[in-house]
Amino acid sequence: MQALVLTGKERVEMQEMPSPRAGPGEVLLKVSTAGICGSDIHGFLGHSPRRKPGLILGHEAVGVVAELGPNVKNPPTGQRVYVNPLISCGKCEACATGKENCCASWRLLGMDRVHGAYAEFVSVPATQLRPIPDSVSDERAVWAEPLANIVHCFRISINEKPRSMAILGAGTMGALGLTVAKSRGIETIFVLDKNEARLAAAKEIGADLAINVDKEDAKARIGSVDYVFDAVGVSSMRRLALDIAKRGGRIAFLGMGENETSLPFIDMIRNEQAIFTSFAYTPADFAESVRLIESGTGPLLKWIEKRKLSDGQEAFSKMTHNPGFTLKLLFDIGNGS
Ligand SMILES: [Zn+2]
Ligand SMILES: [Zn+2]
Repeated sequence: MQALVLTGKERVEMQEMPSPRAGPGEVLLKVSTAGICGSDIHGFLGHSPRRKPGLILGHEAVGVVAELGPNVKNPPTGQRVYVNPLISCGKCEACATGKENCCASWRLLGMDRVHGAYAEFVSVPATQLRPIPDSVSDERAVWAEPLANIVHCFRISINEKPRSMAILGAGTMGALGLTVAKSRGIETIFVLDKNEARLAAAKEIGADLAINVDKEDAKARIGSVDYVFDAVGVSSMRRLALDIAKRGGRIAFLGMGENETSLPFIDMIRNEQAIFTSFAYTPADFAESVRLIESGTGPLLKWIEKRKLSDGQEAFSKMTHNPGFTLKLLFDIGNGS
């Protein structure tokens, strides 16, 4: 089969790869649509030790069941499915207590030795799949995975509804956070970024104020808010999160731009700011994300760009260096590569 393979730093290439087989408990999917995620971009940049050359990237996928492995009865052949690409062991204490995202042996499509979805076919455990109703297009369904990250983050870090919220970063995660926050009726939402195209998108999605952190004094414009969601994860933004969270406020850190940041702990303690970190999602969060998608919340259809898999190099370069308005680049794989 043809697949888009990571071949080096900032290099992906179409290559002929052996077609995967559906092993016991697995299903072979014919991939129809697959999105580029921030973590795929980390792999493309050579910043992800778990994504080495030779790997087929991609974990945000929609496909059609092509073949069932031994002992698999469902979903039936021909069924279009959402793919939960985060595979946990199902046996450890974390998995047994509904914290599958904390499983020590989780695997992800398009990471380590598990080939991903930028290919004609991918094999996935049948338990990771959910049927897509005919009313939901591929372009909508493919948002289930990124949206599950927001569902998880808000579930663990928000108790009562915040009246005011600041979102740091207007990329895919920031914009998805904004749509969910709007659907929950949060009164005042600020969005901060330095990309004017993305700030304009945030305004259109419903941000009360979109602030360019390079040009404006964010603290002066915002004052303070009940809840801060950081989808960037660099030191300047993490410091800003502390500066604009109220005393007794909450901050959720999701962005993974940098590993190490120095923060003023005495100030954080005096201000009793509650700090949350959020990683990935559980199967329950994925199910809630699917429910949101099917009720119309989430997909940012206006900011999708579609490419063929054979345009992979150009698509990755664009999303890495100059994404502009595009919040999600989708590879249209079903209609030939
Ligand atoms: Zn992702
Ligand atoms: Zn586990």
